[in-house]
Amino acid sequence: MNRREFNLNLSYVAAMFALPLSQSSSKLRVNGQRVNGRLRELSEFGKNPQGGVSRLAYSDADLKGREYAMKLMREAKLGVGIDAAGNIVGRRAGNDMNLKPLVIGSHIDSVPEGGNYDGDVGSMGAIEVAQTLAENDVALRHPLEVIIFQNEEGGTIGSHAIAVGLTEKELNLVTNSRKTIREGVKFIGGDTDKLAGVVRQPGDIAAYLELHIEQGGILHSEKINIGVVEGIVGINWWDVTIEGFANHAGTTPMNQRRDALLAAAKYIEAVNRVVTSVPGRQVGTVGKIQAFPGAYNVIPGKVITSLGLRDLDAAKTRMMFEKIQLEVQQIEKTTGTKFEFKQTNSTPPAPTDVRVRRVIDEAAKQLGFTTKFMPSGAGHDAQEMAHLGPVGMIFIPSVDGISHSPREFSRPEDVTNGTNVLLHTLIKLDATKLS
Ligand SMILES: [Zn+2]
Repeated sequence: MNRREFNLNLSYVAAMFALPLSQSSSKLRVNGQRVNGRLRELSEFGKNPQGGVSRLAYSDADLKGREYAMKLMREAKLGVGIDAAGNIVGRRAGNDMNLKPLVIGSHIDSVPEGGNYDGDVGSMGAIEVAQTLAENDVALRHPLEVIIFQNEEGGTIGSHAIAVGLTEKELNLVTNSRKTIREGVKFIGGDTDKLAGVVRQPGDIAAYLELHIEQGGILHSEKINIGVVEGIVGINWWDVTIEGFANHAGTTPMNQRRDALLAAAKYIEAVNRVVTSVPGRQVGTVGKIQAFPGAYNVIPGKVITSLGLRDLDAAKTRMMFEKIQLEVQQIEKTTGTKFEFKQTNSTPPAPTDVRVRRVIDEAAKQLGFTTKFMPSGAGHDAQEMAHLGPVGMIFIPSVDGISHSPREFSRPEDVTNGTNVLLHTLIKLDATKLS
C-alpha cells in the first residue's frame, strides 16, 4: 500500500469510527520557515516607509500581492481561479464526491498604513496547510478550498459577495483606492455581470476556518499560544444629538443654563459606568464629539456625539442600551437638555460553531499549546461565511496588542504554531460529520 492509499484509508477509518488521529497524521507539521518567509515576501507589495504595508484593495500593490499569492497556490498544487467577485479560489479534490468543501482562507488587502500580519497570516497559513497536505500525500475526504477574499478591510466585500451577494448600491461605493467596488472587481479580474454565480447557499460548505492575528493584547499579556474564537461581536453605532440652549457665557447664571456639552460629559461618563457595571467582555465607546457653536463666550447649545456598543450577545447589547437610556433621562432632567439617538449601524453578532471551537481547542492542546476562548472585537470574513455553514477562527498573539499599524507584529513561532493548529483542525474536521 503506498502512502497515499494508507492516508486515504486512515481518513476513512477515522471518519467512520471517529478514531483519534493516526500516528502519521498527528506527526504532520507545516514548514514554519517557509510560511514566515512568504509573509516577508508578501510584505514587499505595497511596503510603506514606516515598515508596514499600504496594500489597499484594488490598488496596484493589491494586484501584485494577489499574483504572488496565486503563484504560491499553484506551488501548493491547488487549481487556482478568480471568481466573478474577484476572490482568489484554490481548489483541491477530496475523496468523497458527495461532500461539500472545507474552506480555509483570509485576506491580503490592508488598511492605509497597515501592518504585515492582519489577513496575511491566515492567507499564507492556509496556502501552507494545502502545500503540507500535498507534499505529504495526505488525502482528505472533503474537497478543500483556499480562498483569499478581496477587500476585507472595506467591509468584508469579497466574502459578502459569496455569502449574501452584492447590491447595486454596494457596487457603486467608492473605496479607499478611489475606485468603486464595481471598478475594483473588474480591475482584479472579476466580472460584475456574473456576480449571481458566486453566491452560495447555506449548506454549500462543510465548514470555514480562518487563522488570524488577535489584534488585541489579551493572548500576548496572558502568554497564551492560541485563541479559540467564540464569535465575532455585533457592532451597533448611533449618532447622538443633544439639544440645549446657546446663551451668553458671561451673563447667564449657572443655575439657568441648558449646557449641551455639560450633558454630553455626564453622558460619556454614564456610558462607561453602565458598560463596566456587569461582568463580561462587552465594550462601549463614545468616539466622537462636536460642540456648537463652539466659542469661548457661548454656552454650547448643541452637541453631536456618538455611541458604539459591541458584544457577542445581542440581548446584552440591548440591555446596555436600555440602561444608558435610563441614565440619559436623568441627565436630561438635571441639565434641561434633550437627547436623540439615531442608529447608523447594526451588525448582528456571528457566533462560531461550538463543535468547531472544541476541535480547534483539542488540536491546539494535542500540539502542546495553551488556549483561551475569546470573542473577536474586530470584523472578519468568517462572519460572512457563517451564513453558509459552521465556522471557526484561530487567533495567535499580537505583540502588545497593536494592529492596523506598521508596528503590528506577531512572532514567527506564533505564526508557525497557528498554522499547525489550522492544519490539524482541518484534518480533524475532515473526519467529523458536521451537518
Ligand atoms: Zn483581517
